[in-house]
Amino acid sequence: MTSDPFFHPVSGFDLPRFAGIPTFMRLPHLAPEHPRFGELDVALVGVPWDSGTTNRPGPRHGPRQLRDASTMIRAEHPVSGMRPFEAMACADVGDVAPNPADIQESMARITAFYDQLLAADILPLTAGGDHLSSLPILRSLGRKAPLGMIHFDSHTDLFHSYFGGTMYTHGTPFRRAVEEGLLDPERVVMIGIRGTAYDTEDKDFAKSVGIRIVTIEEFHDRGVADVMQEARAIAGDAPTYVSYDIDFVDPTFAPGTGTPEVGGPNSYQALQVVRALDGLNIVGADMVEVSPPFDASGGTAFLAVSIMFELLCIMAGRVATR
Ligand code: MN
Ligand code: MN
Repeated sequence: MTSDPFFHPVSGFDLPRFAGIPTFMRLPHLAPEHPRFGELDVALVGVPWDSGTTNRPGPRHGPRQLRDASTMIRAEHPVSGMRPFEAMACADVGDVAPNPADIQESMARITAFYDQLLAADILPLTAGGDHLSSLPILRSLGRKAPLGMIHFDSHTDLFHSYFGGTMYTHGTPFRRAVEEGLLDPERVVMIGIRGTAYDTEDKDFAKSVGIRIVTIEEFHDRGVADVMQEARAIAGDAPTYVSYDIDFVDPTFAPGTGTPEVGGPNSYQALQVVRALDGLNIVGADMVEVSPPFDASGGTAFLAVSIMFELLCIMAGRVATR
């Protein structure tokens, strides 16, 4: 609980939201060297990195665009009344510096950054970055014991390799995470899966290790409440990561992404699925694959930061009970 105004975002009643330097949600910027860094409950982190992208690029520009769009976010949740910036100490801790020419070195840098957060007991809420960003994050958060995961996406990101043996792309992070023991596949659920395919190798792997896939057909047939009740049961009470690929949402609402798939959830359902996570033991979350060069209206980034606010409110509910 923090009533300390130091950790409160700048209010639009004090400074118009189009003015000032855009940090995530207008929070203070606290680099890990800052003397008050250790007081944080949740860190908003930028991972401006898309070296795992196999199709249309651009998510390296995501964090900057999401910071700008996030100045539209206010202080209180419209339904639950949660005021996350008062329920816990949050800050923008800046970007992990990637090496855009070296995938392995970038992943090592990302893991090292999250190790700093883990050591200080700070939960990360990440703005990517392409989906390969989740792997080095999980290498930190899932090192001690495998995590459960609730994964919103059009794609499973469970492929073995690309282009004749390349193991690290945004289509492979969760295959590697299962192989490396960072995820407990029986506590993983992937929701929204759809689109044309080259083969079923990813889905065959999911089946072989016990990952639950909820296709978009099943999602629309059953509805949000029913699907999310099952997702909660799969994750259980143990530590769980939430990974949110913006291409989960229909491209009508979120065109600014590299690999869109039609027939997805609308922007309201995109928020509802997060509200349904209330009370789960969430140890971190990410929002990935926002590609500003394909986001002509800026609407994708605004939806993405609105989802990040939902994630933050769910994390605040959890922090309050720790
Ligand atoms: Mn993905
Ligand atoms: Mn995807």
